[in-house]
Amino acid sequence: MRAVRKFPPGIGRNTQGIVMQPLNEKTIRASFINASRQEAKKLTLPENFNSLDWESLEYLGWRDPKMPQRGYMIYTNANGETRGLLLRATEGARKAGSAAMCEMCRDVTLPCAVGMFTTRRSGQAGRDGDTLGTLLCTRFECSANVRIAPPKDPINPDPMVVVAQRIIQLDERVNSFIERVYRARGGAGHFAPLHRHHLPCRTAFRMGRLSRNRII
Ligand SMILES: [Zn+2]
Repeated sequence: MRAVRKFPPGIGRNTQGIVMQPLNEKTIRASFINASRQEAKKLTLPENFNSLDWESLEYLGWRDPKMPQRGYMIYTNANGETRGLLLRATEGARKAGSAAMCEMCRDVTLPCAVGMFTTRRSGQAGRDGDTLGTLLCTRFECSANVRIAPPKDPINPDPMVVVAQRIIQLDERVNSFIERVYRARGGAGHFAPLHRHHLPCRTAFRMGRLSRNRII
């Protein structure tokens, strides 16, 4: 899904110069790790979908034009696996320049608003209501934000080096956030067996107490 490209020093997506490859509608709808087939089918693509500049995106993020509380993040990892997240905006956006900081681009001088989003975990955990919350740029402007060159100063004589570092960091944060959501898939390998084991023990304990009480 990704191609290796040559970039001028300091401008690549990461040290290997890997950029996001254009995705088609079918891949996007099939990529969701925490949405039902119906939810993925119902989504509306971003209005500028046909003119997106994929090379300047670490992930594709947008608010559903028809269901404004819904947001989506689509990311292709280094193994070429494309994963999509369905998110819900939970409160009013905080104005640009407020103390809120987007967890992905982590820029304190953001030119855009930041808001709280929740996203269901993958698989059974998510169906049971387990969600993760995070602060994000309300219109998913992270890729544009990290490309704003900071002013030249003695500590950062080359603003484009700073931009290149921010691009790498954004890519890593999006990857680890999606991995956190994805790891819980299937109910999950981790908690379900423990839970199943735990319940009979507790039941047995209660029954034991009951019978003791009866004897006394
Ligand atoms: Zn952001």
